[in-house]
Amino acid sequence: MAHSHDVVVIGAGTGGYVAAIRAAQLGKKVAVVEKQKALGGTCLIWGCIPTKALLEHAHALKVITNAKEWGVTIPAGAPTIDMGQVHTRKDKIVTGLTKGVEFLFKKNKIDWIKGTARLAGKGKVDVVEGEKQTLEAKDIIIATGSQARSVPGITIDRTRIITSDEAIHLKAIPKSLVILGSGAVGVEFASIFRRFGSEVTIIELLPRLVPVEDAAISAELEKSFRKQGIKSLTGTKVSKASASANGVEIEAETPDGKTQKLAAEILLVATGRGPVTAGLGAEDLGIAMDRGYIKVDELYRTSVPNVSAIGDVITLGTRVHPQLAHVSSMEGILAAERIAGREVQPINYDHVPGCTYCDPEIGSVGLTEAQAKERGYDVRIGTFPFGVLGRAKMAGETEGFVKIVADKKYDEVLGVHMIGPRSTELVAEAVLALRLECTVEELIKTMHAHPTFAEAVGEAAHATHGAAIHM
Ligand SMILES: Cc1cc2nc3c(=O)[nH]c(=O)nc-3n(C[C@H](O)[C@H](O)[C@H](O)COP(=O)(O)OP(=O)(O)OC[C@H]3O[C@@H](n4cnc5c(N)ncnc54)[C@H](O)[C@@H]3O)c2cc1C
Repeated sequence: MAHSHDVVVIGAGTGGYVAAIRAAQLGKKVAVVEKQKALGGTCLIWGCIPTKALLEHAHALKVITNAKEWGVTIPAGAPTIDMGQVHTRKDKIVTGLTKGVEFLFKKNKIDWIKGTARLAGKGKVDVVEGEKQTLEAKDIIIATGSQARSVPGITIDRTRIITSDEAIHLKAIPKSLVILGSGAVGVEFASIFRRFGSEVTIIELLPRLVPVEDAAISAELEKSFRKQGIKSLTGTKVSKASASANGVEIEAETPDGKTQKLAAEILLVATGRGPVTAGLGAEDLGIAMDRGYIKVDELYRTSVPNVSAIGDVITLGTRVHPQLAHVSSMEGILAAERIAGREVQPINYDHVPGCTYCDPEIGSVGLTEAQAKERGYDVRIGTFPFGVLGRAKMAGETEGFVKIVADKKYDEVLGVHMIGPRSTELVAEAVLALRLECTVEELIKTMHAHPTFAEAVGEAAHATHGAAIHM
């Protein structure tokens, strides 16, 4: 049976479902093919939402563990976490949000086709599993996303050697957990399971934790992790991992060339994600690819007319493409608007906020100090610690700082990097500052309410001009 649509979207992650809604809002007849039973993709089902729900549980345990400081009396003995209730609450949040996307599809009259899609020629998509049929469309948007991948020498068995997909469902807290990779996923799980009571070791190949962040952020996180009892082995390469019924034996090469052996109940591989394009038929249709990723131009057009691609599955060729939910959604909106004939401007990837919800949180946007220097800017820096603020003291969250990277010549804010309480929220102001090409002076003149954590941004701006008020 052939259907006719203006736009068929393949994949209902944060890229695909947002593209579908925007296209429908602009008057297009839209179908979305999704192979999972629920809508929302990696973010809602395995990624952003379940991990942040677990982090909120870890935070609740932290507050309750420090009950005495808050003047709260709890029965004798250390508080423990009930993983059954943790998963019940987390799963309820996930289901609520996926159902919310279902509602939005109904509201926008989007056809949800349950099955696996395969490109079948110009303007045609075969649904090869599930509700089998051939869809016809003027435009196709590929939004098939990404999946966890391993590194050479390590086979994921999903029991002892696991990915984030299994980590979000662990029924018991592992006594010991080794995490391979210190990107956002790795450090978030380190925070979750350390707080739940696991012995946690992070192994990172590069010389510092969260290597995409400003070096000062990495140093502060490593310091905080050390205090919390999380071990960091940086500059260390895992060469082998073998699982048995009881645990995992890991061999790693340390920076001095020695071999270090580690044992853990669970090894979590968090070394990045690869594209989901196998079986999609993209090559057969003549779409240009690069190592499994779909090549697109700055407006998300593939090499084949009327076929667009967005989100984790794409490569922009010239630069690293951030695999983030908000990036995929923004690309989805842009692709839908272009297809609907709207005028669109390319995204400035220097203005993508990066949020890492470990404890302490990280929020950053724009150039790091090193990147700004590499690009030839005469850089000036201002830093202000959260610990000085009344609000931080009240919350008992005094770690970390805000760091501003600015251009001395024109006073332009080039980057803002923060680690500490509410950093993932505070970064929004910095994103707007970069978008509006704001100067440090303008940030100084922007009034920050008292007492708030946001005062650290205003004070960091003062510090960039050499004169923080409260330091
Ligand atoms: C543990 C973890 C935590 C994360 N936390 C954050 C965070 O806090 N903030 C953030 O911004 N990002 C986070 N991310 C990243 C974020 O989840 C992704 O960047 C985002 O989901 C990408 O969206 P997408 O639409 O491109 O792809 P996906 O969300 O992967 O969606 C692709 C969809 O396509 C479907 N699909 C694939 N092939 C086919 C086919 N042939 N036919 C039909 N359907 C198909 C898949 O089933 C899937 O539902 C996290 C990721 C992980 C793994």
